[in-house]
Amino acid sequence: MKKIAILSCQMIRSQNLCPADTKCLTALMRREGWFDRYKDEEVHLLGIMDCGGCTGDRVVCALTLLKMQLDALKENIDTLFIATCIMNFCPYRDEIIATAKEKSGVEVIVGTHKYALPQIFKS
Ligand code: SF4
Repeated sequence: MKKIAILSCQMIRSQNLCPADTKCLTALMRREGWFDRYKDEEVHLLGIMDCGGCTGDRVVCALTLLKMQLDALKENIDTLFIATCIMNFCPYRDEIIATAKEKSGVEVIVGTHKYALPQIFKS
C-alpha cells in the first residue's frame, strides 16, 4: 500500500479555479492520468498542499510543515505528486519541481490528472 501527497498551485486553489481539487481526486479514484501506476495497488492520499504562492519560494516550508503533521500522526509518504496545475500553468515550475526533487527525499512524480482541455472552444 502506497501513501502519497499532492503539491498544487496556491493561486488556482485560492481563487477556486479548480473547485475542491476534484480533478486530482477523480483521477486518483479512477487510477487515471499519472495515477495509473496504482492500477493494481492500494493507495492513500494523505494530503494536498499548495506551493505557498508565487514565486514558489515557500515550497520547502510547505513540505516541512506537511512532514511535521505526518510525524505527529506517525505517518509518512512514499511519493509526492506535482499537480497538473503546476505542470501546465506555473511559470516557476522548473524551480518548484527541482526543489521538490532535491528536498523531499521521496519519489517525485510530475503530473496528476489529464483532464485539461486540449482546445478550449473545440468540442
Ligand atoms: S508559484 Fe506557480 S504554482 Fe505557486 S501560486 Fe504561483 S503560479 Fe501557482
